[in-house]
Amino acid sequence: MSNATGCAGAPTTTDPCSRCDVLLGLPQVHVEAVERAETLMTVTVSLPWQLRGCPDCGVVAPSRGRRRRVLHDVPHGDARVRLVWRQRVWRCPEAACPRGTFVEQIPSLVAPRASITARALTWAIGQLRLEHATIAGLARRLGVSWWALWRLVRPELERLAADESRFAGVTSLGVDEHVWHHANPKKRGPKELTGMVDLTRDADGRVHARLLDLVPGRSRKAYVDWLTARGDGFRKNIGIAALDPFGGYKSAIDDQLEDATAVLDAFHVVKLGTAVVDEVRRRVQQDTTGHRGRKGDPLFGIQTILRAGAENLTDKQQARLARAINADEAHEEVFVAWQCAQQLRAAYRARDLAEGRQMAEKVLATFHTCPIGEVARLGRTLRKWRTAFLAYFTTGRANNGGTEAMNGIIELARRLARGYRNRDNYRLRMLLAGGGLTP
Ligand SMILES: [Zn+2]
Repeated sequence: MSNATGCAGAPTTTDPCSRCDVLLGLPQVHVEAVERAETLMTVTVSLPWQLRGCPDCGVVAPSRGRRRRVLHDVPHGDARVRLVWRQRVWRCPEAACPRGTFVEQIPSLVAPRASITARALTWAIGQLRLEHATIAGLARRLGVSWWALWRLVRPELERLAADESRFAGVTSLGVDEHVWHHANPKKRGPKELTGMVDLTRDADGRVHARLLDLVPGRSRKAYVDWLTARGDGFRKNIGIAALDPFGGYKSAIDDQLEDATAVLDAFHVVKLGTAVVDEVRRRVQQDTTGHRGRKGDPLFGIQTILRAGAENLTDKQQARLARAINADEAHEEVFVAWQCAQQLRAAYRARDLAEGRQMAEKVLATFHTCPIGEVARLGRTLRKWRTAFLAYFTTGRANNGGTEAMNGIIELARRLARGYRNRDNYRLRMLLAGGGLTP
C-alpha cells in the first residue's frame, strides 16, 4: 500500500514552499512527491527553474533536461528513505568552451558525487558519537555498504581532528597508555598507544574527560612529540598533569610542561599497595607450605578480603582475616603489609586534605625502612615520586580517574566495532567516541 502526496504550493525562486521546508529543512528545495511503502519512503525533490550561465564562460546555457539521482537519507522510523533528486543538466552552447554539460549542485543537500545526503551524514556521525552506533549498523539503516558510509564519514572526522581549536582551554591534562591490538607488531605497528585526556574542571569543579589524541608507542618520546606539536600557548596553559607511575611520561612532563604540577594518580598508588600485599601473601604461602595456595590453606581464599578497604569488611570477613593471620606466626608479615596498604588508602580517603597529606608524609617517612622487602620497595618508589605523590593533596585531589574512565569508553567502542585493523581509523573513531571531536 502506498500513497503519494506532493507539494501544494507553486514554488518559485523567491517564494519557497513552507511544507517542503518542514520536510527537508532546505527552503529552496521543492518536494514533488512522497511515496510511503512499508519499509521504504521515497521523496522526489527538485529545484525551481532558474536561468543558468556556464560556470566556466558565463554564457547562458540551454537546459538538457533532468536526470534522476538517488540519495540515501535519514531513516524515517524503521523505513529507509530514498531521495530522488530530479537534477537538472545544462549544456554550454559556446563552441570554444571546454565545459560541455554541467549539472545542478545543492551543497546543503548533498556533496558532489556523494550518495548519502548531508543531513544523513550528520545524523550518522551523531549516532556514532553519542549512541554507540557502528558503521555497519548505520550503513544497514541507510541501505548502503559499509564502505560507502565510511568513505564519507572519514574525511569529516579527519577535518574535525585536524582542527587545533579543539585543544583550546585545556588546563589539566592526563596521560595513559593502552594496548589497541594483539596482532603481530611487525604487520600492524606498536601495540601500545599513548592517550592524552583533557581533565579540565568546569565552574562546578566537575571533570568532563575528553580524549584529545592517541599516538603510537608508550614512551617519553611519544608524549614529548605530541606536546611539542601543540605549541607554546597550549603547554603554558597546563597547570596540572596527571599520570600513572611511569618514568617516561614524568620525564616528558618535566621537559615540556615546566609550569605544570605533575600529580601521581591516586588509583594507581593504591593499586601498588594492593599488589604488595598480594606479593607478600604469595611468598609467605610458598615459604610456609611449599606450594601455591589451595583449599584448606589458611591464606587461601582471603585474597579478596586483603584487597578490600578495611572500612568495607563485614564482621564475618574480619573474623576470617584474623583466623588466617593467627594460624601461623609467619602470617604476621601478611598482616603488616595489609596494614601498610590500608595506610596508603586512608591517606587518600581522609576528608581533610591537610590530614591526608600528613598521613602520606608518614608513609614516605616509614615504608622504606620496613623489614618486609616488598613494602620497603614500595616505600622507595614513592620517595622517588615524592613530589608528584604529595601533589594530590595540594591540587584539590587532581587525579587521572578521567583518563581511566576513558579507557572504559575506548574498550566498549572497540568491542562494538569488533576490533580495528587500521590505526588511523581507530584513532578517529576513538576520538569521536571519547568526546574529542565535536561537530
Ligand atoms: Zn561555457
